[in-house]
Amino acid sequence: MITEAVAKHAQTLIEGSRFPAYVYDLDALREHGRRVQEALSKPGAPAIFYAAKANPDPAFLRALAPFVDGFEVASGGELQHVLDAVPDAAIVFGGPGKTDSELRLALDLGVERIHVESPFELARLANLARDHEGGVDVLLRVNLAGDRSGVALAMTGPFGMDPILIDSCHEILHSAPWIRLRGIHAHLASGLAAGPMLRQAEEILSWARPWLKSTGVANPEINLGGGMAVDYNIPDALFDWEAYGQGMAELACPGEGLRIEPGRAISVYAGWYITDVLDVKEAHGEWYAVLRGGTMQIRTPVTKGHNHPFLILPQNGKTGPSVEGRPVTLVGQLCTPKDVFARQVQVKRIEVGDLVAFSMAGAYAWNISHHDFLMHPKPGFHYLSASGSTWQDDPMTITRAP
Ligand SMILES: *Cc1c(COP(=O)(O)O)cnc(C)c1O
Repeated sequence: MITEAVAKHAQTLIEGSRFPAYVYDLDALREHGRRVQEALSKPGAPAIFYAAKANPDPAFLRALAPFVDGFEVASGGELQHVLDAVPDAAIVFGGPGKTDSELRLALDLGVERIHVESPFELARLANLARDHEGGVDVLLRVNLAGDRSGVALAMTGPFGMDPILIDSCHEILHSAPWIRLRGIHAHLASGLAAGPMLRQAEEILSWARPWLKSTGVANPEINLGGGMAVDYNIPDALFDWEAYGQGMAELACPGEGLRIEPGRAISVYAGWYITDVLDVKEAHGEWYAVLRGGTMQIRTPVTKGHNHPFLILPQNGKTGPSVEGRPVTLVGQLCTPKDVFARQVQVKRIEVGDLVAFSMAGAYAWNISHHDFLMHPKPGFHYLSASGSTWQDDPMTITRAP
């Protein structure tokens, strides 16, 4: 799976051997954002807050801004960063272990909502916000037991408050009227297809609605989290946003504001990690292709334990060894057997000098990688757009918006 713009751009990188490269198709990102927005445009369908941690590249944030209602951030660093990139953005601030200085920053910068993770955090926020003009709007994050078997990542454990702990927030809220409780936040699991995601929404709503009613929250908001499924084994099988939007519109109640905060399923398809083959060889009956770069630059296959999807762009350079019609393991330049992009994948042919384009590299790829390990040159970052393409060395150098 590769867009025409990216395939074309890959060939231009051969001169000067500008590999590895992250190539981002911003038009594809915008088009995907527009489709998701459209699927969620029915009355009652949830507002979209893009989870910046999936890919906080300023170019991504700006490209997505017109298609989302705001951004979800999970640290003071992300908060400052997102506002630098998109100054007028509505920000919701969640995540465990918020420090006083992060909470103060959130108050100073005027985030739209703070998602509170514990009674202690709420009490500290109450203290910090006492003299804050205008008060502060919060959602309380709930952690529901439920059966999460079969999900990619269950957000059980320390996240949010179980229904018993959340009740102990009442007292703090009573004593701090400058904190406005606006609703409930939940992010229970990652990797759910539309059907299970809708059933999880029902589960959250059936707990949250009576709780919010008994607490007396008018026009409550319920943030159902992110975690929409992405299937690295079937790159074309996108999350069914249409079915999800339809189902959510049916679940919605008048007077209630639903929200979601997807990350991976929004940005993953807009990025490619493209590099070239340095060596091809056989060891103990297995074939290996050694690629420039490695999983220190795209950590996704190691963290997910999968074969990362890729496409070989043959160059027929006859510059070195090749292998045909055999399973090949694609590895990088790190001195560790863990540096594997994909294991034993049948290929038609792979040769030294060929390009390999790893797709689905637009989320949890560069920004989760330990890229100083072994000190290889960093990839370049290329941003493709019909209105003008650019490239730069370090995507996170901001680029403060005018
Ligand atoms: C990570 C995270 C998200 C986004 O999850 P995706 O799987 O990328 O959609 C949303 N909300 C919270 C609280 C998170 O921690």
